Amino acid sequence: MNKASALRQLYAFHQELAAGFETACKAGCAACCTDQLAATTLEAGLVKDFISANNLYYLLKRLPESPAPYQPDATFNTLAGLCLNHKDLPESRPQGQPAACPLLNADNTCPIYPVRPFACRAMLSALPCAQNGHAEMDSALLTINEIFCQVIEHLDQGGFYGNLLDLIQPDKTPDRSSLLQNRPIPGLIVAPEHQDMARPIVQRLWSILEELR
Ligand code: SF4
Repeated sequence: MNKASALRQLYAFHQELAAGFETACKAGCAACCTDQLAATTLEAGLVKDFISANNLYYLLKRLPESPAPYQPDATFNTLAGLCLNHKDLPESRPQGQPAACPLLNADNTCPIYPVRPFACRAMLSALPCAQNGHAEMDSALLTINEIFCQVIEHLDQGGFYGNLLDLIQPDKTPDRSSLLQNRPIPGLIVAPEHQDMARPIVQRLWSILEELR
């Protein structure tokens, strides 16, 4: 199995787990669709392949000039390593106000939905976001999402983490000065009350990664 297939399996497994949570998310609600869209280069590769396989090149004309205004401060595994070693977290980069995701269709649907990055898949709110101005997420789902973020980064070691909108720029190698290096998992950060729930999930995630060997 190659890395792209493993990533698709991780996405499918997350969808399976997410089905166990109540969600108000539905087609046409795009409250969480902003340009603060962090992804790995492996995830961006799926999006690029989807755009070319489906002749969606018009989407590339919507991309902002690179580097996009939002850049993540650190990768998940970098943060986990700092936490596990009781080190200070990096200072936040200055960020602009979030704007709507430029890929979003006029009818508030996502043109790359089957291959949307994990950052989009992770946003599942129990209540409509417009109701409280933010997503209402179960703490167990947040833990699951953190684990997946660490595993997805681990899968793309040697790759980079940055804004998806930079990583899918056509005919351009992304400017590496704005990107972060993906790192292996230094240890998973799981709250004590979620460790029993997380154990079988981590075992299945590991079995997906094992198939790469
Ligand atoms: S990629 Fe799709 S799901 Fe993700 S923010 Fe953009 S429009 Fe929304």
